[in-house]
Amino acid sequence: MISVRIETLCEDIRKTLGCTALPVDPKAIAQQERILLEPDDYGNGFDGRIEFLLPERLFVIYYQAEYVQVSEVRVRFSLAHELGHFYIDSHREALCQGYAHDSEQGLMADKQREREADSFAASLLIPRNELDRRMGSMRFMDMGQIVQMADDLQVSVPAAAIRYFGYAEEKCAVILSKDGKVKCHLPSDSMREIGLAFMKPGTQLPPKSAARRLLQTESSREIQGIESTTNEWYPQRTYNTLPLYEDSFSLGYDGRVLTLLSVWKA
Ligand SMILES: [Zn+2]
Repeated sequence: MISVRIETLCEDIRKTLGCTALPVDPKAIAQQERILLEPDDYGNGFDGRIEFLLPERLFVIYYQAEYVQVSEVRVRFSLAHELGHFYIDSHREALCQGYAHDSEQGLMADKQREREADSFAASLLIPRNELDRRMGSMRFMDMGQIVQMADDLQVSVPAAAIRYFGYAEEKCAVILSKDGKVKCHLPSDSMREIGLAFMKPGTQLPPKSAARRLLQTESSREIQGIESTTNEWYPQRTYNTLPLYEDSFSLGYDGRVLTLLSVWKA
């Protein structure tokens, strides 16, 4: 899940450009690299795009301007994502050969590149050493600490949770749900090892879950925790029921809830 290559690249960039202050400023990085920034209203669904302008021999990043009412957090991630296409060698070579990279969802055939650029963005904005510091000697974070990290580093809570999961040694999983149905399920390596690797998209959240309760109260940015079991969340696993702790956070838009499941005795 973790790319050492991308992690090292991001560390080098922050150090070399002197951009070690937090939150990391992707605009300042782009400016130092003399990348042209072109904020404007590019319409619904557009996040960002980087191009190499051949006559001028300049890179340019198009992204949604502040007046388009896109959140600052989203703009920062988009910029960091486009910087990934600039800094990762194979992406940059493709750009220099006149391949304009468009990050609009659904238009990008090269999913591998998109994933790498997302991973780059998360590594750039959530530095490894900062993550280590916050995980402490327990090597663990709860939902409250993940939300705090997201707010401090100005990244989205799902981005912070996914980044944390890349390093989590605990038996745990992140679940993103919408309107009470699972959208995606990311288990940690040790969670996979005990057979809790899958949760089908579209699966209904357990009726007694905190995630479902948050949905009913239509609360926003609220955390609720509750004790649960693998039986409730992974009914297909019929042997050796394990106790789980569910920590859920209402993202406050679109019926979306982020859930952290941890096995707390195994
Ligand atoms: Zn992209």
